[in-house]
Amino acid sequence: MDLAFTAEQDAFRADARAWLEAYVAREPLPSFDTREGFEQHRAWEQTLAGAGWSVVNWPSEFGGRGADLMSWLIFEEEYWASGAPGRVNQNGIFLLGPALLEYGTDEQKARFLPRIARSDDVWCQGWSEPNSGSDLASLAARGVRDGDDWVLSGQKTWCSRGAFADWMFGIFRTEAGSERHRGLTYVLVPLDAPGVTVRPIAQLDGEVGFAEVFLDDVRVPISNTLGAPGDGWKIAMSTTGFERGVVLRSPGRFLATASRLAALYRERVANLPPSLRDAVTRAWIDAEAYRLHTFWTVSRFLDGEEMGAETSLNKVFWSEMDLRMHRTAVEILGSDDPGAFAAGWPDAHDPWIDGFLFSLAGPIYAGTNEIQRNIVAERVLGLPR
Ligand SMILES: Cc1cc2nc3c(=O)[nH]c(=O)nc-3n(C[C@H](O)[C@H](O)[C@H](O)COP(=O)(O)OP(=O)(O)OC[C@H]3O[C@@H](n4cnc5c(N)ncnc54)[C@H](O)[C@@H]3O)c2cc1C
Repeated sequence: MDLAFTAEQDAFRADARAWLEAYVAREPLPSFDTREGFEQHRAWEQTLAGAGWSVVNWPSEFGGRGADLMSWLIFEEEYWASGAPGRVNQNGIFLLGPALLEYGTDEQKARFLPRIARSDDVWCQGWSEPNSGSDLASLAARGVRDGDDWVLSGQKTWCSRGAFADWMFGIFRTEAGSERHRGLTYVLVPLDAPGVTVRPIAQLDGEVGFAEVFLDDVRVPISNTLGAPGDGWKIAMSTTGFERGVVLRSPGRFLATASRLAALYRERVANLPPSLRDAVTRAWIDAEAYRLHTFWTVSRFLDGEEMGAETSLNKVFWSEMDLRMHRTAVEILGSDDPGAFAAGWPDAHDPWIDGFLFSLAGPIYAGTNEIQRNIVAERVLGLPR
């Protein structure tokens, strides 16, 4: 095993670092779950795209640099370490983009990918429905073919960034009478189409982090189908694999949190009980372990191995690590200043409090951790159902 980077990778890292140092704003942007913050994040993504840093591992014809996943991991480390904003178009960039690259027609790639890379179109994901979350294969939103169009109807929910997004990728039941994962089709839906109603949902911090999307006989051209009709489940699951695996939550994000946590601890150490030192040390070790594990996974992927059910292990690990790190931060804040929480919660926009509230959702989104543990039990460990 060679744990060193090549000279080329070191040079790539230095380039990324220099650019980020010059361009990342000192002050954080307003939350992307507000209209103003959403547009400011879009503008930031356009700056990133203009310099070729938005999708480094995509082919250059679609706005990338043709870099491999290893370089992307390096970029992500530098990105998060620089304090750069979260990616408002993460659904488009990390989930739909890879699916389009794998299953899209040439026409679809040329039409959608460059606009995703520049965040001209920000996407949301329309999988969940009011009665279909963990059991996604029970979904009921349907599509009926009428000439050159799908006519879509039904309700999607919990669509992150849906309140302000431009487009939604979703799966719809297009074969009447089909059951479970058969007869589903992956369709790209413009959210300004007649018949679409987007109703924002406020999150724990009061901002509209997601939305319900109602579809009342919405006409979408058949050319907006990704893959063949009926292949929706297969393509959706490949997207979900990317999501749980490495791309949605790269190690750089947690390395940055662990460093900030260590700095917070050092700042306030005089007033803290010694037990918190162990929690901070563990956060650091966990983030480093996740980093090395991800380099190992990506090395195997680059050697042609598939990422299978074991991506569920990653998802359980990063979500629980994130929660532990933020709980430790909240304990540090409370131990340092016992009165801090006396009058209720401090400002939800404080980065630690905001991060803590969001970390509570980690074990739920991208497939709940109970479901991931079932997958690990059955498909990785071979235990009975
Ligand atoms: C912050 C956030 C963002 C999200 N973003 C999106 C998005 O952009 N697009 C989208 O489509 N969805 C999104 N979701 C929805 C998410 O995918 C679902 O919440 C999740 O799949 C769980 O579904 P559910 O909420 O219907 O819960 P349920 O499926 O009803 O589960 C309820 C509880 O029962 C447990 N459970 C269910 N079945 C089993 C089983 N077989 N074995 C053991 N335990 C079980 C679950 O683990 C959970 O604890 C988001 C959710 C959150 C919290």
